[in-house]
Amino acid sequence: MKILLVGAGLSGAVIGRSLAEAGHNIQIIDSRDHIGGNCHTERDADTRVMVHVYGPHIFHTDDQQVWEYVNGFTRFMPYKNRVKTTSQGAVYSLPVNLHTINQFYGKTLRPNEARAFLEDQADTSITDPQTFEEQALRFVGPDLYAAFFKGYTEKQWGCSPTELPASILKRLPVRFNYDDNYFFHRFQGMPENGYTPMIASILDHPNINVSLNTAYAAEMADDFDHVFWSGPLDGWFDYRLGRLGYRTLDFEKFTEEGDYQGCAVMNYGDRDVPYTRITEHKHFSPWETHEASVCYREFSRAADPDDIPYYPIRQVKEKALLADYVALANATSGVTFVGRLGTYRYLDMDVTIREAMDTATAFLSHAKAGTPLPAFVQNPL
Ligand code: UDP
Repeated sequence: MKILLVGAGLSGAVIGRSLAEAGHNIQIIDSRDHIGGNCHTERDADTRVMVHVYGPHIFHTDDQQVWEYVNGFTRFMPYKNRVKTTSQGAVYSLPVNLHTINQFYGKTLRPNEARAFLEDQADTSITDPQTFEEQALRFVGPDLYAAFFKGYTEKQWGCSPTELPASILKRLPVRFNYDDNYFFHRFQGMPENGYTPMIASILDHPNINVSLNTAYAAEMADDFDHVFWSGPLDGWFDYRLGRLGYRTLDFEKFTEEGDYQGCAVMNYGDRDVPYTRITEHKHFSPWETHEASVCYREFSRAADPDDIPYYPIRQVKEKALLADYVALANATSGVTFVGRLGTYRYLDMDVTIREAMDTATAFLSHAKAGTPLPAFVQNPL
């Protein structure tokens, strides 16, 4: 079959590769001048530092098949994400771990003591935390919440943590030992030459043709048996029901000599510091040596129509609109919505790849049965 994939990010590449290997004819288009979507990396022209152009991407997964998949396309170097945060005039270790607790409270607690101590701080009347704030008050208590999460989250999401789901905070572990690895997954690493060559290698198949600087136009679909859309779900429908809200990011890039902050990611928990974090990109490639350093100060704000969408907001208002778009999509044939933008979800790279693999499998079994692939393989609601 002839298949059009809109978007040359992770979803498009992985689905395209699987279907190409199954003998289908794949055309991928992307309106940008590069592949890789927001995972795109490139070397800074002046310093040669590998830059995560759309913000930091650290690969971590528990899914062995996904880990083997990415390692089949590029060499992954060992990398552990160790994040620090500056708050109230001091620097602490994240995610909240025994060092953070002891430093913050000026104590020398052992694991069980720290567990009991935090349990004393916690609001145990919250039995089933629904919001971000409830999750924080239940598991770390008001002091650590105020220092590390409240201000940061207000800056990142532009709203009160009482309006956000607990799931956002559940991304971060709380540890009662000195393990300061930001992620709790079994596999973690960084592609040796960045994500773009990895995705180029996934796309490198005789049945795949990639056209960059090419925006989708409705008449294109006529030339294909099926379309996969990894752009914004509402964009497919020309925003006819309204716009799904996103947070966008502004990066203020600066170059320094030497080592600017001594780590890859420094968060800023205080509300009056306007940025959420500073990333120093050469520390994402600790196996490389660079004299100069490229850093990004990261600011978050509501996305305007012309901005790059990063984080889907998914609050009550957006979810209602999402449900309307999902109904519209389910009544549409010939197109399947995939990935972070296509399904309007906060997805990590490994989950994106897993879902793309599953989507390709579903397509192939539908093709075999002679039935069309539905609008969604993963339910966005
Ligand atoms: N968060 C926070 N303080 C921090 C780091 C994270 O309050 O120092 C909150 C914030 O709301 C963020 C969420 O935890 O959106 C998830 O953090 P993660 O580091 O996973 O965000 P990402 O790197 O995907 O932006």
